Amino acid sequence: MLFAAQRVHVAARPRFKMAAPMATARVDVSGIKDPKLDMCVRRALSVAPLALQIVAECPITKARACSLALPHCVVNTPVFMPVGTQGTLKGITVDQLEDLGCQICLGNTYHLGMRPGPELIEEANGLHGFMNWKRNLLTDSGGFQMVSLVELSEVTEEGVKFCSPYDGRETLLTPEQSIAIQNSLGSDIMMQLDDVVSSTVTGPRVEEAMKRSVRWLDRCIAANKNPERQNLFAIIQGGLNAELRKACLDEMIKRDVPGFAIGGLSGGEEKDDFWRMVTLSTDHLPREKPRYLMGVGYAVDLVVCVALGCDMFDCVFPTRTARFGSALVPWGSLQLKQKQFAKDFQPIDPDCQCATCRRHSRAYLHALFKCDTAAMHHITIHNISYQLTLMRAVRQSIIDKCFPEYVKSFMRRMFPSPEQYPKWAVDALASVNIKLD
Ligand SMILES: [Zn+2]
Repeated sequence: MLFAAQRVHVAARPRFKMAAPMATARVDVSGIKDPKLDMCVRRALSVAPLALQIVAECPITKARACSLALPHCVVNTPVFMPVGTQGTLKGITVDQLEDLGCQICLGNTYHLGMRPGPELIEEANGLHGFMNWKRNLLTDSGGFQMVSLVELSEVTEEGVKFCSPYDGRETLLTPEQSIAIQNSLGSDIMMQLDDVVSSTVTGPRVEEAMKRSVRWLDRCIAANKNPERQNLFAIIQGGLNAELRKACLDEMIKRDVPGFAIGGLSGGEEKDDFWRMVTLSTDHLPREKPRYLMGVGYAVDLVVCVALGCDMFDCVFPTRTARFGSALVPWGSLQLKQKQFAKDFQPIDPDCQCATCRRHSRAYLHALFKCDTAAMHHITIHNISYQLTLMRAVRQSIIDKCFPEYVKSFMRRMFPSPEQYPKWAVDALASVNIKLD
């Protein structure tokens, strides 16, 4: 299972009003706005396909706001990246994603590599051309899908062997093939193929997987045909073992890749182990490179992990939960299929500026859910808007030097009382000098 059950707090209306600029955060759709930044970015891009400019650092925590220049536009971080699968995000169009101000989204290498296949996508000028998406794309290595979707996968030094769920044939995905597919897709950020073990596995397999991931990183670097246009990110492994994580960090940092992902977490481990591994990683990762925490998308996790120094996040949670009728709000979530919303004429969130909240009531969405898949679509738009708006507000608070206050008001609004704050979040925030009251 990818995600542990999330604690949600269902309420008919907000309990607290926030002082932080959550609802008023401006949508920056253009990517590049500041002409000075534009110049600096273009200069950097002339030699490398990625440049990270640190805009502000929180003086209290490890949080930072950056401008990450990628080939298709500048990404303002911290950023949440919605996840697409087969060249599309379930329940949302590319136009709508653009309107929400999304500057980068994920494409799924495994599915795209199988169907329609890299040749066809290359013919369409890569995944950008195929989807007609003008902003940035990040593709995964395809390895994780294999481990999570295919029961019969076997890892050897050569690569990951698995039976294709499409035609049942035995297939081998090597680091070289993963990069070849991602080169055909033309993504702005490519992920290395790593040897993924569940975060709950312990023993020698964790060390083996970590060392193999380092060897595979070298093979991925060597296989990248487009280092001037496509950024390859390393994935830090090492399970929940601090020594292994540190050894992996040391090795991968030596490779001087354009960016680093913290991998192998969010797989059902204790949250206390999770945050300690995250903070260990950000303590050692180079300041001038982007840090991507994979598979994290719950609002509380995002805010805490920004405090621990992460810049980028992705997760299928907001789009997947939308399809079950769950709308994300600053005080938890609303299960719109529940009867209590049948006569509720408020929008999902009165402070939300998204197309769904501007036009539709909870009652309408509740009724629509019974007869039309359009309901899922409307909630998907709202949930992606919620994630992107949350990250913009977090970023603005870092720039305005009030991030710790923002975190406190965020927690006060998310939980009915301080007694309900998750202990791991309280401890993690205390480790970066935010004492929740
Ligand atoms: Zn909304």
